[in-house]
Amino acid sequence: NLEERVEVRGNDELSNLGSSFNLMITRIAQVEQQRKDFVANVSHELRTPLSAVKLLSESLLHQDHVKVETYREFLTDIDSEVDRLNKIIENLLALVDIDKGKLILDYQITYINYLIENLIHSLKPLADNKNIELLFYEKEKIHAKLDQIKMQQALTNIIHNAIKYTPNGGKIEISLYMEYEDIVIKIEDNGIGIPEESLPYIFERFYRVDKARARSTGGTGLGLAISHQIISLHQGRIEVSSEINKGTIFYIRLPKDVGGLS
Ligand code: ADP
Repeated sequence: NLEERVEVRGNDELSNLGSSFNLMITRIAQVEQQRKDFVANVSHELRTPLSAVKLLSESLLHQDHVKVETYREFLTDIDSEVDRLNKIIENLLALVDIDKGKLILDYQITYINYLIENLIHSLKPLADNKNIELLFYEKEKIHAKLDQIKMQQALTNIIHNAIKYTPNGGKIEISLYMEYEDIVIKIEDNGIGIPEESLPYIFERFYRVDKARARSTGGTGLGLAISHQIISLHQGRIEVSSEINKGTIFYIRLPKDVGGLS
């Protein structure tokens, strides 16, 4: 993009060059700011569970006569904070992996129907736990060249969210269909919804609508950022529409010749 701008030739080449240079400087400053924000966010997100672990272990160490039940209670809390740390690190590594692997997607011809069926099979126990119906509608068999592992991760994050943010007894409907030249995967839940003012931010790293609620559901704020990256790498788009207390719909659109299949 930047190169394109630098190559612009007009009547006033110098002024064109000047504005290209300014644009470049602004962009570099933006990237630098994003990098700083990211490092600050990572530090904060890692420090929160670490501080909790430190507090819990110190308070156990400083008590003389601790009941077995208290030990058990504190250790259970420590254990879940360690799980949380693990999850954040796992997600961060996934993001690094995606950033690095930009040019090396491992494309394989994939029937998306079966990919979704497999995902539903592995997420069903989570949905069953909350008595949530997980339905799949497919009009036809659709195949494309995809990086199966990455696309599986992208879809898992979105379906897992639908389960997390839908109350007990809810319903999640996944549809797969063609629309013009696009393959569309639609994931609709009838859960708590996302406030309109949050919608522009939900694909950003570490963004969570409600930090307290996300903590209790085990969220890290990285899932949708990962999905967004993976779908973009496949030249696809992800869109969301939502209404508070009614539910949320995610649309994933992939060009049908993604990965070079015509
Ligand atoms: P998290 O790990 O917190 O779930 P994500 O990046 O996956 O992070 O999602 C970002 C935020 O978007 C979540 O914290 C949640 O507030 C909101 N969100 C995502 N999916 C849904 C959904 N299906 N229903 C309601 N809110 C959602």
